[in-house]
Amino acid sequence: MTDTPLAERLEAVQGRIADAVRDAGRDSTQITTVVVTKFHPAQLVRELYALGVRDFGESRHQEAQPKIAELAELDATWHFIGQLQSKKARQVAAYADVLHSVDRESLVTALTGSPLEVFIQVNLTEDADRGGVAPEDLLWLAERVMGSELTLLGLMAVAPLETEPRAAFTRVRELSERLRELAPGASALSMGMSGDFRDAVLEGATHLRIGTAITGKRPAPG
Ligand SMILES: *Cc1c(COP(=O)(O)O)cnc(C)c1O
Repeated sequence: MTDTPLAERLEAVQGRIADAVRDAGRDSTQITTVVVTKFHPAQLVRELYALGVRDFGESRHQEAQPKIAELAELDATWHFIGQLQSKKARQVAAYADVLHSVDRESLVTALTGSPLEVFIQVNLTEDADRGGVAPEDLLWLAERVMGSELTLLGLMAVAPLETEPRAAFTRVRELSERLRELAPGASALSMGMSGDFRDAVLEGATHLRIGTAITGKRPAPG
C-alpha cells in the first residue's frame, strides 16, 4: 500500500472499524463500508479504487450522474444516499445499485420496474425536511416496497445532531426488529458516519457510510 495521506486515512478508519467489530463480538464479513465521495472529483474515486475500495456513496443526482458515467470502467457498487426527488428517481436507478433513501410511497411508485436494492430511511427527528419516513409510518411503507420490484435490504438512518448517536442507533435497531417481523430478510442497517461509526457497529450496523474521515475535508459543493 502506498504512503499517501488518503491511504493512511483509509487504513486508519479500517483499523477502527475492525476494533469496533471485535468489541461488538461481530464478524467483519457482516460490514460493508461505503466511502462517501460526494463533492469530490472522479479522480479521488479512482485513487480509492486503486486502494481496494469497491463501494461508493453519492448524495446528489446532478453531481453523481456525470461522475459515475466518467467512472464506468470501474467494477464498483454505487450507493445513492441522498434525498431524492421522485421525478429524478428513474435517472438515479439507471446508475445506482443501492438506494439508501426510500422514504415515501411516491418514490416507490416512481421506481416501478427498477430492480434496485433499497433501504427505507427513517427520520429520527421531528423535522420532516431531514428526509426519512416517520417511525410510525415505517411498516406501512415497508409493505408498499415489498409489493414492488424493489428488494428491501433494511433500514437507513442518520443520527440527529441533538441526540447521543448510540441512543439513536439503538432506536433504529429496535425498529429493525419490528420490520423483520414483516420482512424477515430486511435485516441490513445502514447507519454510522465519520463521527459515529463505532456506536453504529456496536448497535448492529451492516453498512457504514463514511466520508470525511477517509476522504479528508470535502471541497465546497460545485
Ligand atoms: C455526507 C453523508 C455521509 C458521510 O458523512 P461524513 O460525516 O463525511 O462521514 C453519510 N451519510 C449521508 C446520508 C451523507 O449525506
